[in-house]
Amino acid sequence: MQFTHEREFTYSRSYRGPIRGVIFDWAGTTMDFGCMAPAVVFCEVFEKAGVPISIEEARIPMGAHKKVHIGLITEIPSVRRRWVEKHGTEPTEEDVSRMFEQFVPLQEACLSDYAQLIPGTLEVIAECRKRGYKIGSTSGYLPGMLAIIQSDAEKQGYVPDATFGAGDVKRGRPFGHMVMCNMLELDISPVQSVVKLDDTLTGIEEGLNAGCWAIGLAISGNEVGVQLDEWNAFSEELKQKHRDRIYPTMYQRGAHYVIDSIADLIPCLDDIGARLKRGERP
Ligand SMILES: [Mg+2]
Repeated sequence: MQFTHEREFTYSRSYRGPIRGVIFDWAGTTMDFGCMAPAVVFCEVFEKAGVPISIEEARIPMGAHKKVHIGLITEIPSVRRRWVEKHGTEPTEEDVSRMFEQFVPLQEACLSDYAQLIPGTLEVIAECRKRGYKIGSTSGYLPGMLAIIQSDAEKQGYVPDATFGAGDVKRGRPFGHMVMCNMLELDISPVQSVVKLDDTLTGIEEGLNAGCWAIGLAISGNEVGVQLDEWNAFSEELKQKHRDRIYPTMYQRGAHYVIDSIADLIPCLDDIGARLKRGERP
C-alpha cells in the first residue's frame, strides 16, 4: 500500500512562544470591587423613568456599551411588564436614548467614589511587567468616563499601556474588537499569546470572540456585586455558596480559567505559559 501524502495528510503549525500581553477589564477587575458604580446609576435612571429596578436586574447585561445596556434592561421581561403597567406602552428607542442621556452625567459624577484599585492589582501588574508582558485594557465605559477612572487609577499607580472603551469601536462586547484594538496598539501577536481578564460573562465572551485566553473573575465584580468590606464580612459558608454558583456559570460560558480576583492571576499565567510551550491553543 502506498501513501499519497499530499492528499492524505495535512500539517498544522502551533505557537510555542510566550505570553505577550494581558488585557484587563476595568470596573470589577482592576478597580471598583463589586462593580458598583454602573449598577447604582442604572437603578437611579430607571427610578427617574418611573419604573424602579432591582440592582440584580441592573446587573444582568453588565459589560456592554452603556446605551446597549439600558436597552437590554428594558428587554428583561419583568422590567418590560412593569414598564407597560406604568406607562401603558412598551419602552421605545426614544425612551432608551433619553435614559442614556441622563445616565452619562450621573455616571461621571460618581465614578471617583468607586475608583479604588482592587487588592493585588499593583502587585500583579508589576509581575506582568517584569515578565515583559504588555498591559492592555478594555471597558464598557465611554471616553469621558474612562478619562475619569484612568486619572483615578494613575494616582494609585496603575497605568496600562493601552485602553479602549465601548465608544472606540463599532461593536462593543461581546464582540472581540476592543481586544483586537489593544493588540494592534501594543504591537503584539499572535492572538494565542494574549490573555483577557474580566468579571462579566459578556467580557469573557469578548476574549473568546477575539480568539485569546479568557479568565473569569468570580468574586471581585458584577457576579457577587458587593463591595470588599461586605464580602470580607460574609461567612465562609456564604462565600462558598457564591463560588459554587459563579464558577460553573463562567466555565460554562467558555472561560479557560475562573479565579476569585486579579490577586490570583499569576498561577493561571504560569499554567497558560506551560500549555503554550506544549503547543496548546486557547
Ligand atoms: Mg467589569
